[in-house]
Amino acid sequence: MQDLIIRGGVVMDGTGAPGRQADVAVRDGLITAIGDLKNEQAKKTLSAEGLAVAPGFIDAHSHSDTAFLLDERCRSKLYQGITTEITGNCGSSPFPAAPGSEGEDSCASFESFLRRFEREKRAMAVNQAPLVGHGTLREAVAGCADRPVTDEELERMKALLRRDLAYGAWGMSLGLEYAPGFFADERELTALGQVVREFDGLLPAHMRNEGLRIEEALTELLNIGRSSGARVHVSHLKLDHFRVHGSAAKVWSMLEKARQEGISVSADLYPYTASCTTLSIRCPSWSLDGGDEGLLRFLQGPRRQEILAAIRSHYFDASRADTCLICDDGGFWPEIIGKTLRRVAEDLLHTTDYAEAAAEVLTRTHARAWCIFFVMCEDDMLYFLSRETAIGSDARALPEDPALLRQMPHPRAFGAIPEFFRLAWEKGLCTAEEAVRRVTALPAAMLHIRNRGFLRPGMCADITVFDPRTIAPRATYAHSARLAEGVRHVVINGGVALEDGEQTSYRGGRFLRKPRA
Ligand SMILES: [Zn+2]
Repeated sequence: MQDLIIRGGVVMDGTGAPGRQADVAVRDGLITAIGDLKNEQAKKTLSAEGLAVAPGFIDAHSHSDTAFLLDERCRSKLYQGITTEITGNCGSSPFPAAPGSEGEDSCASFESFLRRFEREKRAMAVNQAPLVGHGTLREAVAGCADRPVTDEELERMKALLRRDLAYGAWGMSLGLEYAPGFFADERELTALGQVVREFDGLLPAHMRNEGLRIEEALTELLNIGRSSGARVHVSHLKLDHFRVHGSAAKVWSMLEKARQEGISVSADLYPYTASCTTLSIRCPSWSLDGGDEGLLRFLQGPRRQEILAAIRSHYFDASRADTCLICDDGGFWPEIIGKTLRRVAEDLLHTTDYAEAAAEVLTRTHARAWCIFFVMCEDDMLYFLSRETAIGSDARALPEDPALLRQMPHPRAFGAIPEFFRLAWEKGLCTAEEAVRRVTALPAAMLHIRNRGFLRPGMCADITVFDPRTIAPRATYAHSARLAEGVRHVVINGGVALEDGEQTSYRGGRFLRKPRA
């Protein structure tokens, strides 16, 4: 007797091989059989008639981290067919916090984080495979200061990293465009990369720059891969400045060349031409010495004009001021949510100096403002999507209920993977089987997750049943908190999390730990 049989679908097993009509059986959280199972009995049956049956989708770049504290249902992700999220990205993770500074969202170690999750009887609908954030690690040891770490501090960072990797974190993420990540030099990053390599971990990077200086930034990451031997990974690959639009092929050829040289390098992206991050990302790194408070002090001091000059390089006229849409006020100035920088400047601040307006937004929101930046071009995005890249939402799991959302999320939070499928058909990027591989076996292979990402007996039973013809996001920039459509059933660790397009009460998501090699 099986626990579950999914009957009558077309199995796309994650390898990219042509789909075939087959039933899929599950018992004790594992896939037990795939084939003609009409003589097999099961406690529960799901119909997949006319649908594709795929391994559960893997969100290759997530910020869900502690999203379960707000809402354990992980609805924005589940309705995309996502069963596992790679978390702890862009240098930021819930651990390791400095002793004494642990809070709701942070813990001293991966182990204490999991123990608290269990002790507080927390739950979540979707699995997470966490990374250690380098920025979090650096802050725990050296604060948010613009200086190299001392030898002694570096040894402490290595020890903390080793401890969390030994417990099962999947690697270490870099956030080199944020404080304190960008205060790190190659010596520090190589030394930590060597620890990541010892544990066969992944080293994904939000690179130091994704625009005018992207080649320099990518060279730095590839150098870290070369000198440390760690498998490096480009997070949310993009060209985010109009002056470098059109150079996707050139950037991609740098990755290919590095691979020929023996450096292991992979990449993910989200299928949208707008990014979403802090407004302070447009400020020079030195101005974030001391973090957000440091920035506010610099904005009040003699170097204010230097900061404004950096902002001006992005928003030098009214047309560019429309490319910045404020989506989160940090709880300080609700009137600006949903307005472009131009509207904030002209309507609320009565100025056409957009850099001044940005500085005012930073000041009034205590540097907590987040923006959607319309700064990429479609051709570059489609070029990267047509290569060997994984797909990541670059977002945390969110509910669609406006009462629980204080912000206006980027539509990628609710739609990244369905949008990839939609574009794959519309632009003829690849077959359905290939699209499935890109969101299952490929990210699993990048992270060295060995028991998920394929439909095969013995693998963990993470399964997504969807309609390839109708899978699509409903989230738009104007109305982003809308669940995606086209996903019919989702099975996670053998339990049914989504049935006939509706979430069940099952909360079987787990923190996945990397087994010791
Ligand atoms: Zn990032």
